[in-house]
Amino acid sequence: MRSKFIAGNWKMHTAAATARQLASSVVRGLGAEGRVKVAVCPPFPYLALVGDVLRGSPVALGAQNLYPEKEGAFTGEVSPAMLVDVNCKYVILGHSERRHKPELAESDALINRKIHAALAAGLHAILCLGETLEERQSGRTEAVLLAQLAASLAGVDAPRMARVVLAYEPVWAIGTGHSATPDQAQQVHAFLRQWVRETFGEETAAALPIQDGGSVNPDNAAALLRQPDVDGALVGGASLNADQFLAIVRVALP
Ligand code: PEP
Repeated sequence: MRSKFIAGNWKMHTAAATARQLASSVVRGLGAEGRVKVAVCPPFPYLALVGDVLRGSPVALGAQNLYPEKEGAFTGEVSPAMLVDVNCKYVILGHSERRHKPELAESDALINRKIHAALAAGLHAILCLGETLEERQSGRTEAVLLAQLAASLAGVDAPRMARVVLAYEPVWAIGTGHSATPDQAQQVHAFLRQWVRETFGEETAAALPIQDGGSVNPDNAAALLRQPDVDGALVGGASLNADQFLAIVRVALP
């Protein structure tokens, strides 16, 4: 049985004091509850201080990005080893904001390099995938997801795939208040799992956590998480409020 996995993507929000408060509230609210996996992903400057707050708790630390080199002259970038050094377990890769903001425009090829770098460093990668509204409306959802999957995961073997989490985040659902319906989410998650089954085998597919993302909140989480292939949520806006985030976590309890 896959346990549910709820991760909070704080994006470019919080300051040192509010990051500490938010992390403390999540730790306090979760207590020793271990039946749901929980992670928070603060901005780079607050990783270490949030890591201190999380120490000894079941809440894991994640980053929102990395640069796919070990070290060197890459001004402004952060290596996988640095994330490991501050006790990150997870890193979010391929987020649609990084794929689609024109000045970032991350390609599947770059995301693939990041996936390999993350896994080689021992991190777990949360790989975000999703179609735009135009792609969905023109019936290209599966083709887009297939292309993202194949390119982002090229060269990854089954043992390393065990440290990959998929996050289905339709671009039209992120920050819009319009989450995917439970049926839409289930259909896509089953499709993603089938691809993983065909590519990596049944064991890997059965163990793979597939999160749903895009406007997940305490009101819509229950119906989404009830779907057999929805194994959790990657939460943006609602993760900035400890009560809301913890309410989503509670909904995910078995
Ligand atoms: C996200 O960007 O990962 C996300 C899911 O955002 P939101 O929940 O705010 O739509």
